[in-house]
Amino acid sequence: MAAKIQGKCQVYLLAVPKRCMLMAEILDGVALAKRIKDDIKKEIVQKNLEVGLAVVLVGNDPASRIYVNNKKKDCEECGISSVEYIFSESASQEEVIALIQRLNSDKQINGILIQQPFPSHIDVFTVNESVSPLKDVDAFRADTVGRIAVGSYGFLPCTPAGVMELIHSTGVPVAGKECVVVGRSNIVGKPMALMLLNESATVTICHSRTRDLGDVTRRADILVSAAGRAGLITAEMVKKGAIVIDVGMNRDKNGRLCGDVDFEGASKKADYITPVPGGVGPMTRALLMKNTLTAKSLQS
Ligand code: NDP
Repeated sequence: MAAKIQGKCQVYLLAVPKRCMLMAEILDGVALAKRIKDDIKKEIVQKNLEVGLAVVLVGNDPASRIYVNNKKKDCEECGISSVEYIFSESASQEEVIALIQRLNSDKQINGILIQQPFPSHIDVFTVNESVSPLKDVDAFRADTVGRIAVGSYGFLPCTPAGVMELIHSTGVPVAGKECVVVGRSNIVGKPMALMLLNESATVTICHSRTRDLGDVTRRADILVSAAGRAGLITAEMVKKGAIVIDVGMNRDKNGRLCGDVDFEGASKKADYITPVPGGVGPMTRALLMKNTLTAKSLQS
């Protein structure tokens, strides 16, 4: 895997197109994430930096526990120190916000990550907004997302930023491409569309009220699905030669983790495709580490 400098950002070239083959090139998010984490570690060691991430968890959601443990491992791999704060399910919103305010002024802590979902008595928006803009490494604050629209930002949300790295790893230029994003959430779909637009793509956003989804997705040179619906994107909905990025994390009827895309069918038509697991998920985590390092430099 080679790395090159494109504009201001480093681009990792992961995949080599195999145009004469029938199957798509699989974009290996695990390998690319490792490369990014290795670079983060190198920078931290070379510059002798002390970087800290605080992770706040409310309640006992088992999936959240797994995510928090994974993030702790990522921090260890990168040389970032991590501190976990775990509240019981009954913790009040005021208690959580009081901790965040304390972390906002703690010089040892560069990034604050609030693991979601929250118990229903806690308002996600209010809690996200209480994180300092300089420590908003998940990029969930409304102004952080808004800054993407005007192309002037400190942090990019980890999942769409990870998707952009995967797209860049193909070496295919984004400018001028027809891009379709399925999903319009504030944390994935909308920022994803803005980031593609910022790279001069022609972008269409689809959602549950889109009339003929296949009609739109078949136009996509780059298709990003973030709907959270297993089997939503069939092979017939994919343009030949497309880049297909599957953000979805679902369970199939056997309880196995799967994305939104029919991987087998779509990989016969696409030039590049991400697997689930092993595609976008590890990239989201790597980009969180990158944002934490960025936070350190923004605070220096
Ligand atoms: P949300 O539920 O907030 O948003 C889902 C979006 O998909 C909505 O905009 C919804 O439309 C749209 N949608 C749902 N069904 C359809 C359909 N049949 N046709 C077209 N659009 C549809 O989810 P998130 O954005 O938070 O997450 C999306 C998926 O990505 C989930 O599976 C989640 O687990 C996964 N995810 C994965 C991450 C990773 O690191 N790999 C990180 C974050 C999320 P409408 O707005 O009209 O309801």
